[in-house]
Amino acid sequence: METKKLYILPELAYPYDAFTPYISEDLIRLHHDKHHAAYVNGANAILEKLDKSKADNTDFDVKATFKELSFHIGGHILHSLFWKNIAPAGNGGGGEPSMTIKKAIDEEYGSFERFKKLFSRTAASVEGSGWATLAFCKQIGRPLIMQIEKHNINVCPTFKIIMVLDVWEHAYYLDYKNDRGQFIEAFWNITNWVEVNNKLEEILAK
Ligand code: MN
Repeated sequence: METKKLYILPELAYPYDAFTPYISEDLIRLHHDKHHAAYVNGANAILEKLDKSKADNTDFDVKATFKELSFHIGGHILHSLFWKNIAPAGNGGGGEPSMTIKKAIDEEYGSFERFKKLFSRTAASVEGSGWATLAFCKQIGRPLIMQIEKHNINVCPTFKIIMVLDVWEHAYYLDYKNDRGQFIEAFWNITNWVEVNNKLEEILAK
């Protein structure tokens, strides 16, 4: 019997109400239990369709299927990173970067303040739904801001993502209505810099 190789919705490392007043309990619950879960289920449904196609020797629309698979997997991977990328304010979240990530940001962007402004502008200017990310290119050894549309468009292949901010409306509408800028400001109070630093150090060590 073959074991099922499918995606699993990760559990959160903190209670749903850990991010008030920056993100409400209801919003974290909805975002994780409904939205993130939908990407996991969506990706798994396609993987099962691929398995069935193999078993039945039937054809499928490859262009549409692989486009949809990329979207759902992108959604799952980015949300998994996002949950680790935030921590309750004053309890692992907020403040300023230190250690390796501080050095890398200072070198690439001049200062944390300048990076923060640029990253916030990147998040604010995502057209429609998407993400602001900081990613690392191993070829040239530079941390680069990458603006992702939806979950998978504008991605530089093989870049390692070390920081993510979800700016889909579902990530903030319940608490901030259409004020994405206020949500982006709130994010800086819950950014988990230890996690971002660990991600960078892991990449550099490989
Ligand atoms: Mn989301």
